[in-house]
This record gives sequence, structure tokens and C-alpha cells, in this order.
Amino acid sequence: METSIPTLSGRTSGGRVIYLDHSASTPVDARVLEAMMPFFAEHYGNPSGIHAQARASAQALDQSRREVAEILGCKPKEVVFTSCGTESDNLAIRGVAFAAAQAGKGQHIITSACEHHAVTHTIAQLCEHFGFQQTVVPVDRWGMVDPADVKRAIRPDTVLISIIYANNEVGTIQPLAAIGEIARERGIPLHTDAVQAGGYLDLNVDHLNVDLLSLSGHKFYAPKGVGLLFVREGIALLPQQTGGGHEGGRRAGTENVPYIVGLAKALKMAQDMRSTENERLVRLRDHLIQSVRATLPDAQLTGHPTQRLPHHASFVIPGVEANVLLMHLDLMGICAASGSACNTGAAEPSDVLLAMGIPPQLALGALRLTLGRSTTSEDIETVLEVLPAVVRRLSALQPM
Ligand code: PLP
Repeated sequence: METSIPTLSGRTSGGRVIYLDHSASTPVDARVLEAMMPFFAEHYGNPSGIHAQARASAQALDQSRREVAEILGCKPKEVVFTSCGTESDNLAIRGVAFAAAQAGKGQHIITSACEHHAVTHTIAQLCEHFGFQQTVVPVDRWGMVDPADVKRAIRPDTVLISIIYANNEVGTIQPLAAIGEIARERGIPLHTDAVQAGGYLDLNVDHLNVDLLSLSGHKFYAPKGVGLLFVREGIALLPQQTGGGHEGGRRAGTENVPYIVGLAKALKMAQDMRSTENERLVRLRDHLIQSVRATLPDAQLTGHPTQRLPHHASFVIPGVEANVLLMHLDLMGICAASGSACNTGAAEPSDVLLAMGIPPQLALGALRLTLGRSTTSEDIETVLEVLPAVVRRLSALQPM
């Protein structure tokens, strides 16, 4: 049977596809790919074996674990490699919740109103099927959690707090260190979904006061399908995938050595270039935000104006439906995203935007533009030419 790969539907008049969806995924960096290559067909041994081929893989695995641990400021044995950010979130939440319930400590979990589905759906399942209860702390109009609300939500039976580091839809960075202090005072483990923060923010787990931290490779120029979970020594975690004793008995399954090598290389590169690249991205992002607001005065920035990811610009635009806007931008060669999930063709306003107090109708007009290493000022100028024209055309066509 013949298979065909869909072609890119649009290009800018300069012939270039402008990719502004780096929060969804990033390309694999050539240097990352190069580091991975020997571990497919040359050093292919199972790292658990006892022979030369196995040792080459085991050494690469150890080295990757040490490199990641150095960035996180933790011990190598506190790093558990996983298959993705979603798995890391699942392992953290279910693993801690079940271990605590088993020990008779309680079944109450605190989370926030601006989490990713990998967190919200996991906690919802624990509540629906396993007798847990949750308190969802609110966010303000910027999508920010107030640590005082977390403190107030703590109960004697609270066994886990899970708060995102930086939100994927609106880019807001949470005051994790302050929340971590509160959690530590009460002896409650704090998990953070740091998937969006990995390439851009400080990941030192002691600066952040966190006990569990999830990352995903494809958000910082490593491949899709590899992630990690930091688990602080002493935190009880019931494994969710059982089998061999891999990853210190916390996640069974032969480690994906080439991808883990890629993740470690990519994380190190991202953290090494963080300060210079962030500065460049902030300049481009702020110009984009200011110019969009100048040319489309009705467009509202979503998320915190300053406490936000350096590459992240997000808006709600009255009078347009996000999915239609995204299709038109795609036709013009611009890859962007929205904040709304599309189920069976009908757009639903995002829970995160609703939690920030944005009316449902307005939330349907969410646009997210996330910049990356390949983004140039020419790209931003092209977007600033195309976007207002498309929005004006659509608002005239589809009065909402
Ligand atoms: N958490 C956040 C905040 C995300 O943005 C994503 C992916 O977009 C995930 C978790 C899931 O990561 P993965 O795609 O590696 O499963």
C-alpha cells in the first residue's frame, strides 16, 4: 500500500515556513542527533548486560544521568528516565499517591487550575476510581497561583502538591520556590511539571524546593518519546510500570539509550545557551507582543506580562475563532497554535483560560506564538504583516 506524507500547506511569500509552535515541539538539533547516532547500530548492547557491548551502553547511560543530575543539582540516582513528559507526570502523581495511601498517610492532593492534562486527568482518575480527593487552587487573571492559597488548602491528609512550573498555554511562571517552602514546612512532597520550562529556566531542584520534577526531551531540541522524572531521595514512589529492576526499581523497561543520550546532550546545550538565547528571544517576543497590541488593539495578552517564558506570546482575539485563524495562518506559511482543544471538530474553550476569568467566547479566539532558535526578526516582521490582515478579514467574515 502506498503511503503519502502530507505536504506543508503553505509558505510565506519569501518561500519560508515560519514555525512558531516551539511549545508544542522543537526540531532535533543536529549536534544532538550526532551524539545519538552511535547508540543505534554501533553500541547497541542492553545496558543491563555483562559484556563489552552492554558496557558501552551502560557507560553512556551513566554519563547521561550524571550530566542531567549536574543541571538539576541532584544525585544521579535521583534521575529516572521515562518515555515522555506525560509518563513522568503520571509516575510522579500516581506513584506518590499510591505509596502514601498504602502507608495510611491520606488521600488528598493539591493542584492548580492551570495544569496540563497529563496532571489534571491523572488526578481526576485517582479521584474517580481510587477514593482520592483534590483541592484545585485558583489562579489570578495572569494565570498565577498564590502560595497563600496552597497553604490554606493543606489538610492533615494531604499527600502531594503538584503545581506546574510554567504554563504551556499562557507561559506564566509560577512562584515555585515559595510554594516549595510551604510544602517542606508541612512535610508534603511537591511535584512540578517543568516540561515547558526545561530549555529556558533554572532547573536546580534545591533552588525550586521541589521533590519531583518532570521534563520532556522534545521541548528542548531532543527527540519526541524521551523524558525524565527527578525523584528526591527518600520520597516514597510506587512504580507504575513493573518488570525488571531498571531505573533503581522505579521504572521497569530497557532504557532507550540513544534517546537518553540525546536528551542529556540537548538539555546541556539548552542550559549552556540559556542566558544569551533567552535575551534574544525576549527581545523578539516583546517586539511581537507590543506590535500585535498596537495593530490589533482588541487583542489581549494572556498570561503574566513579565513572569512568562522568554519565547512565549499568547493572546485572545475577539471576533475570530482560533481554529479558523490557525488554518489561515497555515495557508500563509505560519505554524501557530491556540489554547483550545478541538474535540470532534467543535472548539472548546480552554480550562486554563476560563480559570483566568476569560469569558468562553473570547477564549475561543486564543492564539499562541512560541519562538525558537530558528526564529529571526524577519520572521516576526512577516507575522506582523500577515496576522492583522488575516484577523481583519476573518472578523469581517465570521461575526461571533
Ligand atoms: N506537560 C506540559 C506542560 C506540556 O506542555 C506537555 C506537552 O505539551 C506535556 C506535559 C506532555 O509531554 P509529552 O509530549 O512529552 O508527553
